[in-house]
Amino acid sequence: MDLPATQLQTPPEPRAAAMKFTYTSGSRPLDGYTIKRGIGQGGFGEVYYATSDAGKEVALKLIRRNLDVELRGVTQCLNLKHPNLLALFDIKIDERGDSWVVMEYVAGESLEDVLARHPNGLPIDEALLWFHGIAAGVAYLHDRGIVHRDLKPGNIFNDDGLVKIGDYGLSKFISASRRSGQTESVGTVHYMAPEIANGRYGKEIDLYALGVILYELLSGQVPFEGESVGEVLMKHLTAEPDVSRVPEAFRGVVARSLAKDPQQRPHSVQEFLAALPTDYGRPVAPASLPSRPRPEPALAETTFLRSADEPPAPPQRAAAMPTGNAGVNTPPIGADAHTVFQRFLTWWTPLPKKKKILAAGAAAIVLSAVTQMGSGDGEAHTFSRILLLTVLILGGMRLAGWFSNRPIVAPATPRPAPPTRPVAAHPVAAATAQAPQPLAPPAQYPVRYSRRERRLARRSSGRELLSAKTSREKVTELFGSLLLSALVAGATSLLMLIVQHRDQQFYSEYAWLGLCAAMGAWGVLIPAKLWEGRQGDVVLRRFVMLGIGLAFGLAAFETGPRLLKIVLENDVHLPHVGFDSRSSSSVEGQPEVMSYLAYFGFLFLVLRWWKQADPLRSSRLSLWSLLVCVFWAGALSTCWYFPQPWGMMMAGAISLAVQLSSPWIDPQNRVAQAASAPAAST
Ligand code: ATP
Ligand code: MG
Repeated sequence: MDLPATQLQTPPEPRAAAMKFTYTSGSRPLDGYTIKRGIGQGGFGEVYYATSDAGKEVALKLIRRNLDVELRGVTQCLNLKHPNLLALFDIKIDERGDSWVVMEYVAGESLEDVLARHPNGLPIDEALLWFHGIAAGVAYLHDRGIVHRDLKPGNIFNDDGLVKIGDYGLSKFISASRRSGQTESVGTVHYMAPEIANGRYGKEIDLYALGVILYELLSGQVPFEGESVGEVLMKHLTAEPDVSRVPEAFRGVVARSLAKDPQQRPHSVQEFLAALPTDYGRPVAPASLPSRPRPEPALAETTFLRSADEPPAPPQRAAAMPTGNAGVNTPPIGADAHTVFQRFLTWWTPLPKKKKILAAGAAAIVLSAVTQMGSGDGEAHTFSRILLLTVLILGGMRLAGWFSNRPIVAPATPRPAPPTRPVAAHPVAAATAQAPQPLAPPAQYPVRYSRRERRLARRSSGRELLSAKTSREKVTELFGSLLLSALVAGATSLLMLIVQHRDQQFYSEYAWLGLCAAMGAWGVLIPAKLWEGRQGDVVLRRFVMLGIGLAFGLAAFETGPRLLKIVLENDVHLPHVGFDSRSSSSVEGQPEVMSYLAYFGFLFLVLRWWKQADPLRSSRLSLWSLLVCVFWAGALSTCWYFPQPWGMMMAGAISLAVQLSSPWIDPQNRVAQAASAPAAST
């Protein structure tokens, strides 16, 4: 239904004219695209008109904040197709670490511009054209379990006569953060349903926004005005809308859609459409609006923060990004030794798994041979045998794919994708909404993503999954881990003692080692669960770990030498440079309680043990982390005496028990799992 061109009036002032944009015309912040001009700015960032190298016109939305939560919302929407939805082409991350949404460029004006030209509302026919187009797009989203959350005239466009809704999938987290921020513009709250104040984000909030939009289309005004955000929100919560401003036939449906109680509103878009008066006829889809180009902003008046040839500022992402899981270039624990091993890591990390195992095996054999040279008493022989056997067993298990493929504790339960329901056969909805197609399984990554982008996406999706866990899920997981860690601790300790050929006091030694390993693992698993998914203050965490280490030392002393009367022999003579507490010991040659406290206090303080329980660690079992623990346990006893290999065995058993018992989300599956979780939390 085309309206006569005489309805067109003077274009409004270009909104971009007085804005400051980061990038100037001709800049190429994103590979493959050249910025032509800034279009506008909103709650997410800046929007530019740009062309691809092949000449395709696109809109680029620069998103500076909330990258981690952002990606999930948008990736879920990347493959949606509907004539009333603005097409999303891609999401990219530039060299500075900023993310960009590449989307269809709409040359036509937004509904906001149109409404600005119609202070008393649109003619009913035209209003309905807009409304049916919007409704069809929203119905399509709802049928796929997606709540728009930011429906407002500024996000709705007239693209050559066709209604297009933009910014779907973007608003889930941003809008929440904006609401709590100081920068909230009054315009944004006009479409907000009252229950948003209570944190409810079901599709009813879109139905409420549709009610506000219909009200505005017909009357030219929003139902609730106010001087401040608070005033408007208060009116949404308490005031009754004055429906007398809209034509009589629409008052009932408008009042219903603006009900404070979500249950009183139409339950679906189809129900909303069915409640509209039929006297005005129903447009044939796709609704065709009078098309009108958007006013071009005067470039000369647009100010830019950076010119095209100015070099990009240094990346800020590193500081802004939560550290989350250790990346490939960062050792998961023992980061204090990081610089020392940096060179080794750059060689080691990219090696394929099989080569790593071969290299570790070869190193163990060499080490074994070297340590046996010149030692006739077989001590070093025992030690190197333990090492070799451990490496071989672990290597073999890894090679068999046991660790990488078999989840030991199920990772965060992936929630089922929202069911796709057929669009109700309403004449308009059926005509405008495409027949629903099952969504393609979420692509793990768009093919064009770089390794770095994939890593960022994995981390962000991983954090998403972790933050989506309920307390109940966390408690269940923790109990599973505690149980499993005790089993692993018991098995590992047994193996270690058997390999060591210990026959005197075997049972008491076994009981003690197993108990200590389990206690140590619990001491790591419990705080790690509390800290899971959070960045946290490392210094504070270290102090907590110091406390746990001291408690562990005391418990080990009380149970071993005191209760079980264990006499620890020092079988591995490491050079000793520091304090030796044996001199004042009650039993000759045995470490006293101070030694235990100091040794285990430092053992827990220096390493970031909780990283080994992080579900976002790069592999389920990191031999590197294990070796760092054992190495540190050995190195520590050169300063604070503790009989070896006891300290090293304990550290190794704790590390193994922690890693094998804590849940792990395979990095390769994180994006897919996050995408299959519901977009809309209701
Ligand atoms: P919100 O952040 O809540 O969506 P907004 O819609 O006002 O608020 P942006 O979405 O950032 O802000 O959009 C800024 C400007 O860019 C608006 O004037 C909008 O009309 C315009 N714009 C956004 N997307 C496109 C697009 N795909 N094509 C053309 N113009 C667009
Ligand atoms: Mg927008």
